Amino acid sequence: MTIFVCDLHTHTHYSDGSLSVPELLEKARSSGLDAIAITDHDTVQAHRYLAESNLSSPVQVIPGVEFSSRWNNIDIHLVGLNIDIKHSAITEAEQFYEQLRIDRAKRVAEKLEKAVGLPSVFEQVMCLVGEDGQITRPHFAQLLINKGKVKSAKEAFNKYLGQGKAAYVATQWPSVESAVSWITAANGVAVLAHPVHYNLTRSKFLRLVDDFVMAGGQALEVITSQQKPELIKYFVQVAKERNLYCSLGSDFHGDKMPWAKLGGIPRLPAEAEPVWQLWS
Ligand code: AMP
Ligand code: MN
Ligand code: MN
Ligand code: MN
Repeated sequence: MTIFVCDLHTHTHYSDGSLSVPELLEKARSSGLDAIAITDHDTVQAHRYLAESNLSSPVQVIPGVEFSSRWNNIDIHLVGLNIDIKHSAITEAEQFYEQLRIDRAKRVAEKLEKAVGLPSVFEQVMCLVGEDGQITRPHFAQLLINKGKVKSAKEAFNKYLGQGKAAYVATQWPSVESAVSWITAANGVAVLAHPVHYNLTRSKFLRLVDDFVMAGGQALEVITSQQKPELIKYFVQVAKERNLYCSLGSDFHGDKMPWAKLGGIPRLPAEAEPVWQLWS
């Protein structure tokens, strides 16, 4: 079995990351990684770019994505690994998310215009989105920083963009079942991303895991950045009990989210079944 030193959850400027694809790959090499999965929010444009540019990568790149979904009124993120980026399930999902994100962004922009008194927020934010990229809330945070309205993305979320705040718009993301089925249709492995982010009680978390498994989910992201070490053991145990494979990823976005360092996470413990067994 191949042992990878890898980071299976990273973002580029095709979603809310700050690095370009070549910059991310070079950083992966200099960080000593063998492989990374690029998992932008609701887009595989980074992988299309890689395929079209003929760029020879210094590290192995696993085609991935991070789909947004909704479960019991909670936003749940599902990473798809080793997906066929050309599969119609992926291109259809991308188009669906693009429309959903643009519709939401227009509503967020209207609310922000009222809340902070900035003109043409939607047009200004679109200038910050990379060509062919998905618009995300961190783009709004960046505009607020650029215009001197807040000092940090954290402040932007706390005051305006976070759930229940002045410019928050609840999004009807697709169900966990739909998001998992797009990933599995494209021959990928569906991974329940960063379980610590959902602030669930343990019993509710286990219900989420059961629904995820019922939908065809195959792996749990047992390690993410800034996660208490004792939780790794717990998540690996939950994975084992449900015959799930284990994934790990920093959720790297670049310097603007300094708490998530590329590859800056522990290795998988020996008792975990590594997710890459499914494709290597
Ligand atoms: P979206 O998918 O457009 O709703 O944006 C969600 C993204 O916003 C997440 O993937 C994070 O990268 C980022 N994010 C969420 N909460 C915060 C926060 N409190 N501070 C900074 N970034 C955040
Ligand atoms: Mn993000
Ligand atoms: Mn996420
Ligand atoms: Mn992510």
